[in-house]
Amino acid sequence: MKNPIYLDYQATTPLDERVLEAMLPYFREKFGNSASRNHAYGWEAEKAVDQARAQVAGLVGGDAKEIVFTSGATEANNLAIKGVAEMYREKGRHLISAPTEHKAVLDPLKRLEQEGCEVTLLPVDRYGAIRLEELARAIRPDTVLVSLMAANNEIGTLHPLAAIGKLCKERGVLFHTDATQGVGKIPLDVDAMGIDLLSLSGHKVYGPKGVGALYVRRRNPRVRLSPQLDGGGHERGMRSGTLNVPGIVGLGCACALARAELASETVRLTALRERLWSQLRAGLDEIHLNGHPTERLPGNLNVSFAYVEGEGLMMGMSELAVSSGSACTSASLEPSYVLKAIGVGDDLAHTSIRFGIGRFTTEAEVDFAAQRVVAAVQRLRAMSPLYEMAKEGIDMKSVKWSPTEH
Ligand SMILES: *Cc1c(COP(=O)(O)O)cnc(C)c1O
Repeated sequence: MKNPIYLDYQATTPLDERVLEAMLPYFREKFGNSASRNHAYGWEAEKAVDQARAQVAGLVGGDAKEIVFTSGATEANNLAIKGVAEMYREKGRHLISAPTEHKAVLDPLKRLEQEGCEVTLLPVDRYGAIRLEELARAIRPDTVLVSLMAANNEIGTLHPLAAIGKLCKERGVLFHTDATQGVGKIPLDVDAMGIDLLSLSGHKVYGPKGVGALYVRRRNPRVRLSPQLDGGGHERGMRSGTLNVPGIVGLGCACALARAELASETVRLTALRERLWSQLRAGLDEIHLNGHPTERLPGNLNVSFAYVEGEGLMMGMSELAVSSGSACTSASLEPSYVLKAIGVGDDLAHTSIRFGIGRFTTEAEVDFAAQRVVAAVQRLRAMSPLYEMAKEGIDMKSVKWSPTEH
């Protein structure tokens, strides 16, 4: 087993060897510019890009012509949100989203707010789920876009895309989904789900970093976007810039592999996640699952450990590459805004761990991880007077803390 064991598949995924093999010729002899119309080098590159377009559409639905390649999901989200807001300014300036979205959605929305748009963030429940009635109520005549993610990157909660898409269609509002975590992990179909714009990223699906795509619906309705990069008019004018041919080939190959393996991987990853969760519960009390118990990503387990201290917990797990519920910003240890939004208190947010399980995770790795986590938490709790008091049945809220006794 490698040390540390990689359990952070929501942060990024390793490049699949098969993807690397598919990419290599496009760094070497097949180096052409896909926009070169006058010779075989260009044609060869264009052919590869077209194949990748079809492979991406094959995974998410829609037509190959509706795929716009970008530098990743951050750019795809920016293009979708700012592109729609600018293009449909005459229709209205109201957008709807949720507080648990990725920063690559929230920050473009914030920018638009500064520029005079109005943004409604729907409330989420303790699982990170929205209520369709709230969405229906939030839509106004001047609403131009609803942006809700397919699957949350921290807590794994899935949004009911088909129901959201149906509602948006009925009300004549465009629906964008940041599907970066959902693509290749859950079944997606832009037509069946009424999705007008969909963002995805190569490096979250065992493809390369620095490449992604935006699906842009071409009929019923035809979505128009204000380009965010001006230049040579590539990608039907929506995203200028010479195409990253090796990256795009890798993204296409990664999508084809994900499509072929989605059904079997869903079963395998769900079983691994349940294995980890049941071992943690067998070894420890006072632990809490964050996110939805069933409507969640197969490979995501987010757990808070009560009565331990966050930094100590992470130090006790140095053999595991996992993510903590505190984002280390330069100055402070801020608890995750996603956990905050679903009502997890600061204490439990600080001791939350995101376990990301993926294509190369084995049962042995899960067992090892569970054993290390149980041992680390038990060791910390053995030194914790709070845990001892809780076990003795002392109500923490009734304790009078004296500052002088510290
Ligand atoms: C990783 C991630 C992004 C950013 O994708 P990049 O390709 O790294 O820009 C956006 N949204 C979600 C939900 C993600 O998980």
